[in-house]
Amino acid sequence: MKVLVEGDFCIGDGTCSMVCPEIFAIDGDVAKTSVGAHEDVPPELEGPCREAAELCPVMAIVLMEPGDVRFPDHCGLKRLSC
Ligand code: SF4
Repeated sequence: MKVLVEGDFCIGDGTCSMVCPEIFAIDGDVAKTSVGAHEDVPPELEGPCREAAELCPVMAIVLMEPGDVRFPDHCGLKRLSC
């Protein structure tokens, strides 16, 4: 699983960094991830990462699964294959 934060949508409330500080941190006024967009989230952190995405108040956290990449509606992209 891969993860990224849509910086244009993030409001920097810090929910993700509280739920999964191993992956998310606030940098300035937006959240950043400790893993790059092309790196996999360590398996043991996938659960907390999913929880952070579910709790994000503006759906700014995008999770990408192999072969099933879904984006929030505001991205205008529903599904891509990788
Ligand atoms: S929970 Fe969402 S809005 Fe809040 S800091 Fe994290 S990515 Fe940004």
